[in-house]
Formats: sequence, C-alpha cells, structure tokens
Amino acid sequence: MEKLVYLDNNATTKVDHAVVEAMMKYFTEDYGNPSSIYTHGQRAREAVENARKRVAKILNCEQRDVFFTGSGTESDNIAIKGVARKYKNKGNHIITSSIEHHAVLKSVEYLAKEGFIYDIVKVNEDGIIDIDHLKSLIKPETILISVMYANNETGAIQPIEDIGKIAKEKGIYFHTDAVQGVGKLTLDVKKLNVDMLSLSGHKFHAPKGVGILYKRTGINPIPLFHGGHHELNVRPSTENVPYIVGIAEALNIAYRDIEKHRERQMKLKERLKKGLIKNIDNILLNTPEKSVFNTLNVSFIGIEGESILFTLDESGIAISTGSACTSGSLEPSHVIKAMGRNHATCHGSVRFSLSKYTTEEEIDFTIDKVKSTVEKIRKISPYK
Ligand SMILES: *Cc1c(COP(=O)(O)O)cnc(C)c1O
Repeated sequence: MEKLVYLDNNATTKVDHAVVEAMMKYFTEDYGNPSSIYTHGQRAREAVENARKRVAKILNCEQRDVFFTGSGTESDNIAIKGVARKYKNKGNHIITSSIEHHAVLKSVEYLAKEGFIYDIVKVNEDGIIDIDHLKSLIKPETILISVMYANNETGAIQPIEDIGKIAKEKGIYFHTDAVQGVGKLTLDVKKLNVDMLSLSGHKFHAPKGVGILYKRTGINPIPLFHGGHHELNVRPSTENVPYIVGIAEALNIAYRDIEKHRERQMKLKERLKKGLIKNIDNILLNTPEKSVFNTLNVSFIGIEGESILFTLDESGIAISTGSACTSGSLEPSHVIKAMGRNHATCHGSVRFSLSKYTTEEEIDFTIDKVKSTVEKIRKISPYK
C-alpha cells in the first residue's frame, strides 16, 4: 500500500499546517533574540510572552508559572531532579509508579546515586495506581511524588486529583507527566491538584524538541543547566521562539475542538476494538475502560508483537509494541509487566494510537491486515 496509515500517535504526531504557519514568521522575519532590547528583539519577546499567556490560560495558572523547555524528557528531569536536590534538607524519599515513562523512572533511579531513596507504587490489573499502596509508602522523609496522568502504552488514566489531595495534606510536592493527556483530558492544574506538570510538543501536533513545564510559584527547582537568566533561571538557553509559538498554537488547537475529537476518536477506537475482538481469537485487552480516547493496547496471545509490527509495516501501517530492544534482545514492556500479565502476553502486546487525522477507512484496513497477519503467523507459530 502506498499510503501511510499512521497509528502511532503516542510516539509522535504530524505537525499541523496551522502550527507551521504560525511559526514561520519567527524563523525569517521576527528572528530577533528575545533578550535584545531593541524593537526587533522585543517583537520576539512579545511572541514568547504571548505564547506563555495562551498556555497559562489552558493550564488555568499564572503566566509566570509556565516554562518552555527542550522536551518532555527535560521537563520531567527539571521537575524531579531539580525539586529533589532543592529540598533534600526536608527529606530524601521519592515515590513514583511502576508504569512511568523512562524520563521519570530513570531520573528517579539516577537520584539514588545522590543519596535519595525511592519506592515504586504498584498498579492493579487495569494498569491504574493502587492508591492504598501509595498511602502506605509515604514516610516523614517523603518530599516528592511523581505519577503520570495517562499512560503512553495503555492509555490508562491515573487518579491524579486524588493523589494530589493526599500529597497536599502531607506537604509533599506532586509532579505529573501529562504528556499523553493533552487534547484528551483537562490540564487545569488547580483542578488536578498538581504542583508541577510536564508536556511535550510533538505528542500534540507541534514540533519535536519543545516542551512545557508548569510549576507552582514558590517551588524553586535547581536548574539542570547554568547560563543566562532565561525562563526565570529555571531553564537558561536563548528561547526557541518559533517552537514556543508553535507549541502554544498546537495546545490551543488541541482544546479548541476537544469534544468533536473525543467523539470521533472514541467511535474509531471502539470500531477497532470490536473489529479485532470479532475477527481474532485469543486476544487480551491491555487498555482499561478508564483510558484516553485515542489509545488501544491489545495482546495477541502466543505471537510476538514485533512480528505483527513488521508485517503491518509492509502494508504501510505504523503501530508500536511496548518492548524495548536492549543489547540485541527484546525486553518486554515494563508497563504491561507491571499489570501482572504473563510473559507471553507481554511479548504479544501491540499499541494502536489514533489522532484527529485517523479515518474509518484506515481503521477497517488495519483490522483486515491485523486479522490476516495474526492468522498467517499463528499458522507457522511454534507456540501453539
Ligand atoms: C513522549 C513522552 C515523554 C518524552 O517526551 P519527549 O519530548 O519525547 O522527550 C515523556 N513522557 C511520556 C508519557 C511520553 O509519552
């Protein structure tokens, strides 16, 4: 098939034409340095501050609490390492979950080298945080909790408001990686009870290499970089003006027609789910009811997810598996594993992630191709 059927929108997304258009002027016309005090520089400054204002409106926060960074990974790193290092005199204990993105997990693990200790909250079989377990892990030394908003592999939505309440009562800083929530769930930081929140542009039709960190006034993470006074010292580096304009535009677009997108994509996801269940035996859903509307993760029992991925690729369909290729061998997804799934289920997991560009025709084509692929592989599979 000549046409690409892109169902890997949790990995990255196509940049919207409207976003590119909004950015263009700041490459070639208003390209001044926002720190320059003449008019040409000040026009760039104005664009950055206007972008900040637009983001703050969607996050329901103060403009000064919005920081532009280089990626979702960077936002997570600033929030976790920056806050842990700043407040280590208060305590050295951190809590995170077993289903976090590596940007969070590896940051927390790294802090162990600096004398911090951490605990990992369990999830239930739906891949949702066990709140009672979280409560039992809190100690007097706990300074930071980091739990993601929606999981990138399964789409499972986490009880952020409830965790936020617990953290607030205990005086613990609370960070959420909200990268997969954009355009699907509210980002109102007051409603969510979060102190810090990370976003990544390329997951919602802005370019790669730009992120957002919200942090409540009064929290002062130690920066990862040292340099100029940009972004109130939280993230020194000359502001990436076009990308900042782009991420603000994309965020606005994501929430402008959210109801329409929700309705459309929920229908398409349901169609995909029903189509797969009806046509293929021995499949297990890894995506719970309480999930973002674009994500469907299923395991085809007895089949390696990668075999499906490569065969679908030949038909122009892009999907993903949760497995990570480490030193030549396939490591099953830590997320599916944390849900208590057995080895075969972990290895057979496949993720379909839709976007506003996904069509019914693409979904039907995909169901068809997955069906024939699974049949073909099962026929020759040694597992049977
Ligand atoms: C993609 C992703 C990130 C990393 O964002 P980058 O901008 O690619 O660094 C972090 N967390 C989650 C949940 C993600 O899906």
